[in-house]
Amino acid sequence: MNSLLTKSAAELAAMLHAGEITSVEITQAVLDRIAAVDEKVHAFLYVDAEGALETARAVDAAREAGEDLHPLAGVPIAIKDNIVTRGKPTTAASKILEGWKPPYDATVIKKIKAAGLPIVGKTNLDEFAMGSSTENSAFGPSRNPWDLDRIPGGSGGGSAAAVAAFEVPLALGSDTGGSIRQPGAVTGTVGAKPTYGSVSRFGLIAMASSLDQIGPVARTVEDAALLQELISGHDPHDSTSLADPVADLSGAVAEGAGEPGAEGATNDKPLSGLTIGLVKELEGEGYQEGVLASFHETVEKLKELGAATVDVSCPSFEYALPAYYLIQPAEVSSNLARFDGMRYGLRVEPEEGPVTAETVMRATRAAGLGHEVKRRIILGTHVLSAGAFDAFYGASLKVRTLVQRDLEKAFAQADVIVSPTAPEVAFKFGAKSDDADPLAMYLNDASTIPANLAGIPAISVPSGLSDGLPVGFQIMAPARQDALMYKVAAAAERAAGKLAEESPAKDWEE
Ligand code: GLN
Repeated sequence: MNSLLTKSAAELAAMLHAGEITSVEITQAVLDRIAAVDEKVHAFLYVDAEGALETARAVDAAREAGEDLHPLAGVPIAIKDNIVTRGKPTTAASKILEGWKPPYDATVIKKIKAAGLPIVGKTNLDEFAMGSSTENSAFGPSRNPWDLDRIPGGSGGGSAAAVAAFEVPLALGSDTGGSIRQPGAVTGTVGAKPTYGSVSRFGLIAMASSLDQIGPVARTVEDAALLQELISGHDPHDSTSLADPVADLSGAVAEGAGEPGAEGATNDKPLSGLTIGLVKELEGEGYQEGVLASFHETVEKLKELGAATVDVSCPSFEYALPAYYLIQPAEVSSNLARFDGMRYGLRVEPEEGPVTAETVMRATRAAGLGHEVKRRIILGTHVLSAGAFDAFYGASLKVRTLVQRDLEKAFAQADVIVSPTAPEVAFKFGAKSDDADPLAMYLNDASTIPANLAGIPAISVPSGLSDGLPVGFQIMAPARQDALMYKVAAAAERAAGKLAEESPAKDWEE
C-alpha cells in the first residue's frame, strides 16, 4: 500500500505545504486505492476520478503560483451521498433518486470546493440515512474493513468504511441519531456531531430536520477538528444556523493532547481542572462486557491525564430511544413527502387505470422506497394524525424536554459527560435486519440519541479493541462547547492510542 494512504490529513497538508508532494500524487494514490479495494468494501456509490484530479491540478497550480491556500487545500475527501453535489449523482442510497443530478451544491460542499479539497466520490448509507448498518441501502451494504462479514455501522457506514480502509483520509457524514458516531465506533475511526446549528444543513437531504447535523469523519481527532472548522459557520440559507464565530477546535486538540507549547514541555496533565461525568444510564444492561471494559480503561487513563470523574444520572434517557423513534419518523413523514414522482427523481406510472397525481405518487413510492423508509413514513404519519398526536408526538416532545433538563443537570456537575458510543461491537450482516423486529436495530442508538434530542455536540473516539473489533468512546459537551469536547477527545486519543495502526486493512493485497 502506498505510504501516503496511512497519513493523516494534517500530515498530508504539511507535506503539501512544504512542497514535498503534489495534490495530484495524493489524489491519484487515493483513486488507485479505491480502484483496488472498494470492490471488497463497497464504501462508494460514485467515484469522480476526473473531477477530483481536476481540483488537484488546480490546487497544485495555485500553490506553484504562490497563492494563499486553505491549510487542507489538496487533501482528498469523500462525501456521504445524502449531501447534494452540483451536477454529480446524489441518491441518498434510494432508488427514488437514482440518476438525479442536483442543480446546486450544499453549503458545506461550497466551502470544501472553495478550500480546494478534491472530492473523490459519494459514499454509501442506509436509504435516506435511516438505519444503523447500511443494510438498508438500495444499492447493497458497505463492509467493515476490520471484518468484511460485519456491518460498518450506519447510516454513514460508507464514509466510515472508506476512511477505515485507508481509501481516503477525510469524509463527511450526517448524524440524526448517531449516524456519524456509531459507524465511527465500529470501524475504529473518529466521528463528530457538531452543536446543532453550527454547520449548515442547506443541501443535506432532509430527514428529520430538528435532529440532522453534518459532521466530520476522520482517522484522528486533529483531522476531525480541522474538517469541522472548515465546514462550520453561519449560513443565511439555513434558518436554524447559529451566528457564532467558528471556534478554534484544532487549538483545543493541541491542548488536550498536551502538545508542547512555547515553553517546550509536554503537558502530562492536560485535563487537570476538568470533571468528567459517567452517565449511569448509558452502561449496564445491553452493553457488551468488552465494550464496558474498554470504556472504563479509557476513563482510568483520562484520570491519569488529570481529569476528575463523577457519576451522573439522566433518568429520562430510558425514554429517549422511544421518543426519538416517534419524533424522527414524524419529521420523516413530512420531509419525504417531496418525493412524489413529479418534481425530480424516479417517476413510475401505474400499470393500469388512470394516470393521476395520486396513482403516480403511489406507483413511484411503491417502486422507489425501501421497507424501512416506508415503515417510518407510515409510523410518522400515524403519530401526527389527530387521534394519535397528543399520546405519541406530544408525549415525545415532553421527553425531549426532560432529556435536555437532565443534561443541563449533568453539566452542572461535570464539564463533559462520557459513555460507550455503541452498546456492541460491529455485528454480522443479517443479525439485526429482520423486518419482523426493527427494534433490534434501533437499540444500537441508545447512547447516541440523547445528544441529537438536545442539540449538543458529541464525538466518538476509538478506545481500543474487544475480540479484535473496535470500540468507541463517546464524549458529549454542552451546546456550543465543541472545543471543550475536542480537547477531551484529544486526550482520549492520546490515552487509547491510534487504533488505525492495528487495522487489518493495512495488509490487504491490492
Ligand atoms: N440509526 C438512526 C436511525 O436509523 C440514526 C440515523 C442517523 O443518524 N441518520 O434513525
